[in-house]
Amino acid sequence: MTRLILATRNAGKITELEAILADAGLPHDLVGAAAYPDVPDVKETGVTFAENALLKAHALAAATGLPAVADDSGLCVDVLNGAPGIFSARWAGSHGDDRANLDLLLAQLGDIAPPHRSAHFACAAALALPDGTERVVEGRLEGTLRTAPSGTNGFGYDPILQPTGETRTCAELSPAEKNAISHRGKAFRALVPVIRELLG
Ligand code: IMP
Repeated sequence: MTRLILATRNAGKITELEAILADAGLPHDLVGAAAYPDVPDVKETGVTFAENALLKAHALAAATGLPAVADDSGLCVDVLNGAPGIFSARWAGSHGDDRANLDLLLAQLGDIAPPHRSAHFACAAALALPDGTERVVEGRLEGTLRTAPSGTNGFGYDPILQPTGETRTCAELSPAEKNAISHRGKAFRALVPVIRELLG
């Protein structure tokens, strides 16, 4: 069984990819970055989700000698020409302040009417091998932005993104409902044929 490392310390992401690999009949031994505590954190210096996912996957593959998967994601708002994009986690200044990021975005869009509030979550998932081989795939979750947050599940911008065809925001969906349609789920599922091709 090939060992595969995922560039995250988030147990939820590990479980999600594990389930996708198991469903596809690819019983890889998947471990998170926490299993290799000496691996240094990587600066996300890329200007696209794909570049950042590749940077993280290559760094982890080089440091561990294992095939490595990494993802990078964010919210892209059409009327803001794709922003916050790669700056989603630090839109209001400090990294990971979900509430401040969401409040700032709502304020910026205050005068924008519902027909012009289209947006999507985007996720790039990269696989890098220690020999430098690389592949990257992407997934999207399309929707529109509410004018006020609603729901308590999830994280980040979930309380304001209403997926196309839904009456609820992502934060009102159950975790299973969100995973089934999410940008990350789609990107991870798109990695399956890549993993099968490169790792068997
Ligand atoms: P990361 O790639 O997981 O670090 O996500 C970057 C940022 O994008 C997060 O901090 C969130 O602000 C936003 N984001 C990415 N995916 C989601 C999602 O599924 N729901 C809500 N916000 C998200």
